[in-house]
Amino acid sequence: MTTPLDTTDVKAPHRPLKVALLGCGNVGSQVARILLEDAEALAARTGASLELIGIAVRRLDAPREVPLPQDLFTTDAESLVKDADLVIELLGGIEPARTLIQTAIAHGACVVSANKALLAAEGPALYEQADAAGVQLSYEAAVAGAIPILRPIRDSLAGDKITRVLGIVNGTTNFILDQMDTTGAEFATALAEAQRLGYAEADPTADIEGHDAAAKASILASLSFHTRFALQDVHCEGITSISARDIEAAREAGLVIKLLAIAEKTVSPEGLAGVSVRVHPTLLSREHPLAAVRGAFNAVFVEAEYAGELMFYGQGAGGTPTASAVLGDLVSAARRIVLGGPGRTETTTGQVPALGIESVQTSYCIGLTVTDQPGVLAQLTQIFADHEVSIETMRQTIHHGSEGQQAFAELRIVTHRALESALARTVADIRELPVTTEITSVLRVEGI
Ligand code: NAP
Repeated sequence: MTTPLDTTDVKAPHRPLKVALLGCGNVGSQVARILLEDAEALAARTGASLELIGIAVRRLDAPREVPLPQDLFTTDAESLVKDADLVIELLGGIEPARTLIQTAIAHGACVVSANKALLAAEGPALYEQADAAGVQLSYEAAVAGAIPILRPIRDSLAGDKITRVLGIVNGTTNFILDQMDTTGAEFATALAEAQRLGYAEADPTADIEGHDAAAKASILASLSFHTRFALQDVHCEGITSISARDIEAAREAGLVIKLLAIAEKTVSPEGLAGVSVRVHPTLLSREHPLAAVRGAFNAVFVEAEYAGELMFYGQGAGGTPTASAVLGDLVSAARRIVLGGPGRTETTTGQVPALGIESVQTSYCIGLTVTDQPGVLAQLTQIFADHEVSIETMRQTIHHGSEGQQAFAELRIVTHRALESALARTVADIRELPVTTEITSVLRVEGI
């Protein structure tokens, strides 16, 4: 029985936890601001105060978006990391981020990072090091910014079996495709507009070639299928070849083009069960929930055996939204320190093979131009039949050439679900036909 003098059930307050912040750019400056401004609320939620002991940057005198105490800044990231219980890495890039995270883990600190490039390239080695050291490595902000998606996949769906994940995980490309769809602009014009509005960087390669989405796809696939997929396992195609005509043709067919990161269970032509991880422009039905994701927003659509379909939607980038995800990870890691033990958060017991793009089965939309002469459609349909790819719809627009020019037909052929390897052979044979002038696009179709 408890008497007023009995204090055995009263817990001593936990010592303050020392937090080192690496980087004070778009995201880091907001994380620092919130850590200082909301210190009391964060301490109440954590069970210990979170004491920001320093901020490592490159240039001590650089102007900062947020006024922060100057004495927190240092260029000696290594010493800072060695003194911390929790390290937040918001530098970006591979080095020195990798070495500093390794040093933090070796010194027993839990690490929070938003660095998808590093995690996609070096994640497996870093997770192993963290596991062996009994500390947490969390990275909610690395995929789809503010959207809580990794923890739901890892924790909330831990009792389920995910079968497929479809994500719009790059705001820049979604903005560009949305601009093309709403204004009829060509790719270059929409990209210039994205750059003018700050949605695309001066060098937009990582976004428009799909590399940024591919890094996120490997992280999503690894958590969804309990297997570590590397960046090299991801088939990646960007959006640079998408034309205004492709977008218009999609609209006419009730479809929209989105750059999707896809991870799904599939079976190879040889019967090997595995997972296909890929990023490519995809034709989606306008009825699909992902079709409604406009502008620079992100969303991830998850299909699980028991839960059915789930969708997570929100801001995929920006300093404050991304800081929200970073701080969520920080409080969660800090709570585990307070309560004792890191807990086991990820499993890699799936060990399913990554299957190449040739194993994918989906529908396709092929755009091509052919000379307008008798028997052309028969030749085309024969090629499809030879490779066992069945045609769902075929639209033909005849263009009567001006004087001296031969008439040509523009075709849009949508197939039923077919194996990628069979489709590739079909397209190769069509290309060889003397009547084919150009294959303008080959796009995969989902959700119809
Ligand atoms: P950022 O604005 O470029 O800031 C980078 C910060 O790191 C700067 O403060 C810079 O110092 C510091 N830094 C870079 N190299 C350094 C080095 N060698 N030594 C010490 N400090 C160094 O980057 P950000 O946009 O905040 O992004 C940070 C991370 O979050 C990246 O991994 C990014 O992929 C990820 N992320 C960003 C967003 C977003 O919306 N921005 C969204 C999701 C994830 P100086 O200020 O002195 O130059």
